[in-house]
Amino acid sequence: MEGTILVVNCGSSSLKIALFDEQLNKLASGLAERLGTDDGFATVKGRAERIELAAGADHQDALNALVAVLQDSGLLDAAPAAIGHRVVHGGETFRAAALINEDVLDAIKDCASLAPLHNPVNLTGIEATTALFPSTPQVAVFDTAFHQTLPRKAYLYAVPLQLYKDWGVRRYGFHGTSHQFMANEAARILGKTPATTSIISAHLGNGCSITAIRDGNSVDTSMGLTPLEGLVMGTRSGDVDPGLFDFLAQKGVDSREVHRLLNNDSGLLGLSGQTNDMRSLCELADHGHEPSQTAIDVFCFRLARYIGAMMASLNRLDALVFTGGIGENSSLVREKTLAHLSLFGFTIDDELNNHHGSISDGHIEGADSRFRVLVIPTNEELVIAREALASARPGIPG
Ligand code: ADP
Repeated sequence: MEGTILVVNCGSSSLKIALFDEQLNKLASGLAERLGTDDGFATVKGRAERIELAAGADHQDALNALVAVLQDSGLLDAAPAAIGHRVVHGGETFRAAALINEDVLDAIKDCASLAPLHNPVNLTGIEATTALFPSTPQVAVFDTAFHQTLPRKAYLYAVPLQLYKDWGVRRYGFHGTSHQFMANEAARILGKTPATTSIISAHLGNGCSITAIRDGNSVDTSMGLTPLEGLVMGTRSGDVDPGLFDFLAQKGVDSREVHRLLNNDSGLLGLSGQTNDMRSLCELADHGHEPSQTAIDVFCFRLARYIGAMMASLNRLDALVFTGGIGENSSLVREKTLAHLSLFGFTIDDELNNHHGSISDGHIEGADSRFRVLVIPTNEELVIAREALASARPGIPG
């Protein structure tokens, strides 16, 4: 078999892998969860049986188990040609994917103070694949890199500039691989080139962010120093008044607790008191559960406000794009959000919207809409595989 590309995405207690061939067809994918606990397990898509991992199994154990399955099934009969890693924070150092060497590893470590929950575990993934495939070129693909084109007026907070100079306090933005993919896909659908396409890209999954992309470049985005800022998310609050921290401190809530409150207990979960899952919320709302209806309303209104805000960075809008689990699948969220934006001239076609754009090459805008509205499935693994192939084998188009 010709070369394969392995994509690795490490979370704090999980590890996801995907295997592609050199034409970027996906061959397999697998997931390990609850790592570091007594009941860690792994699954490979398309196979019913779970792989039970030993108590306390870590990322290396999980990777070994998943790779063994791929080898047994003949999909990975030699070391991969390239390995791509999702790395959350590249700070201001990385404007693009980087072939991993000692300097790149050091720079990823340096960025860890900006993403203490993510970068160290991403490094763990790199160590695990290095142990298994020491000769394979490995590539780091950063969530932040696409947003390094943000102009200064968009990335600076209005706090003493010294905080930026000393500690890098600024807006970085995340979900870059997904937003970049949207820019390319929207251009393809519209018959344009990415460099002449301007879109607003709304990535709505468990984490949610929105980005203004002007002629292919990210020029504004809703996530900031951390992935907490901006839109309402599954368990994250998005924007709150920074005065809340002081207020809560006065109530005796310490910073660790505030972190948990805003990251884990807020968003759709906090408002509904039931679930962080939009599909379940829609069902609850259908049955008249008022807090769930409120959660959906707050989610859609915040999103609409941000779509309006993103207009300020564009001189032309070729399309508003919805993606991510919610963006791709919730006709209700798209409809409720766009209902707030009639002043801008957005309209939606109910039938196309109910089909999630699947019968209209992504389009869901009404015939009289001033702007196109697209639904485009995201594919972050594919972007990482493509970047890995291109960086590991320069000259071969990904
Ligand atoms: P992640 O950010 O973890 O990759 P996803 O992009 O898979 O998450 O998005 C998960 C979200 O998408 C969940 O809130 C889920 O309920 C929502 N979702 C998936 N399908 C639907 C649907 N048919 N209707 C509404 N929400 C949906």
